[in-house]
Amino acid sequence: MAEKSFKYVIVGGGVAAGYAAREFAKQGLKPGELAIISKEAVAPYERPALSKAYLFPEGFARLPGFHCCVGSGGERLLPQWYKEQGIELILSTEIVKADLAAQTLLSAAGEVFKYHVLIIATGSTVIRLTDFGVQGADSKNIFYLREIDDANKLIEVIKAKKNGKCVIVGGGYIGLELGAVMKMNNFDVSMVYPEPWCMPRLFTADIAAFYEGYYANKGIKIIKGTVAVGFTADANGEVKDVKLKDGRVLEADIVVVGVGGRPLMTLFKGQVEEEKGGIKTDGFFKTSVPDVYAVGDVATFPMKLYGDIRRVEHVDHARKSAEQSVKAIKATEEGKSIDEYDYLPYFYSRSFDLSWQFYGDNVGDTVLFGDNNPTSPKPKFGSYWIKNGKIVGAFLEGGNPEENKAIAKIARLQPPVEGLEELKNEGLSFACKI
Ligand SMILES: Cc1cc2nc3c(=O)[nH]c(=O)nc-3n(C[C@H](O)[C@H](O)[C@H](O)COP(=O)(O)OP(=O)(O)OC[C@H]3O[C@@H](n4cnc5c(N)ncnc54)[C@H](O)[C@@H]3O)c2cc1C
Repeated sequence: MAEKSFKYVIVGGGVAAGYAAREFAKQGLKPGELAIISKEAVAPYERPALSKAYLFPEGFARLPGFHCCVGSGGERLLPQWYKEQGIELILSTEIVKADLAAQTLLSAAGEVFKYHVLIIATGSTVIRLTDFGVQGADSKNIFYLREIDDANKLIEVIKAKKNGKCVIVGGGYIGLELGAVMKMNNFDVSMVYPEPWCMPRLFTADIAAFYEGYYANKGIKIIKGTVAVGFTADANGEVKDVKLKDGRVLEADIVVVGVGGRPLMTLFKGQVEEEKGGIKTDGFFKTSVPDVYAVGDVATFPMKLYGDIRRVEHVDHARKSAEQSVKAIKATEEGKSIDEYDYLPYFYSRSFDLSWQFYGDNVGDTVLFGDNNPTSPKPKFGSYWIKNGKIVGAFLEGGNPEENKAIAKIARLQPPVEGLEELKNEGLSFACKI
């Protein structure tokens, strides 16, 4: 098999790869210097669309509409753009072996790729119920959502099982977004999760109560405090029932599972330092191996603002870490230096006509403000997190761009607060006046 050699290789063709490519082009790139190798068959795209507009029954999003970098208001990089830049997009190509000492990658088809600088951007994979040996979890029409192929398969079955029953397993953001789009597709939706409320890693009980109430008003049944322990299939092998630990049985034509992900780093096991379940990097996304960088979901990096190290599985960090790594690569080549990554955590989600944003850290005391009545015609509410007398995190549902900017600013500046009661009364205006 032929061997191909590049100055820079990005392994993984997701969000981080798209933003890294744009940054390379901005910084100056010669034709043939950069290759992106991706298991997926399409150029880098904005992955969050897959659980939102991609699954809408009407007015749905389709490629090429959401290629990177439209998600952050940037230029849409079509396959043609990569060609014009002389960037080689090597698609439908899975790397199965990486030899970091020999600076070599091997694909499933036996192609060999050599590089001088490698950016690892392999993202995450979903956790499957089959991983835990859940009975019947390999039945047909049980879906996970990570890549565009997964979404396409789900759309086919949505059409085939019109107006059917859907069970969502998991109450995280994937579960909540999928619950909403399946309802919009006119399915009878039940959501099952073991925790006392949805999105427990971020939401307080008060925040969650709003979303659970809103979903219930839309006709979605929420079953908490139990888990799916088995599935039964019909004669065609298609799922028909979900068995719950508490003994209940739910009928299902489609099951969507969103129980978390894990970073895809097996290729590099034993070759690179790891920390907190990810590939350890510095504030420039350099790993322990010279000329090897890791960005996006796989990177465990110094979170300067909080003086610790973290891994973040959100799209904003995928974009920014990718740009930072390319700036660092170029600066190193030119003998220059750049500032260390100084990231303010930012997550968001959208479902139905709801939209929330969160900035900062969700630790310490909390204060809820605004109207969180799920039956309000235009609910708008938020929460602050307060640690050591300072605001460290802020959440806002239904904010406009100015208000969202204000909560981002407050999470970054961490102003002191007089008292929790005053803060509650001031609510959003506290952030807006800073
Ligand atoms: C359905 C969905 C909805 C989401 N919604 C939101 C949201 O609303 N807000 C938010 O903040 N975040 C959201 N996220 C998370 C966000 O999309 C990720 O954090 C982001 O995509 C990470 O970027 P990445 O480049 O590190 O990885 P990815 O975008 O996952 O890209 C990794 C790429 O590497 C490829 N790859 C992996 N292994 C190999 C290999 N061995 N060989 C070749 N190619 C390989 C994969 O096929 C993939 O193309 C969502 C994620 C999903 C799945």
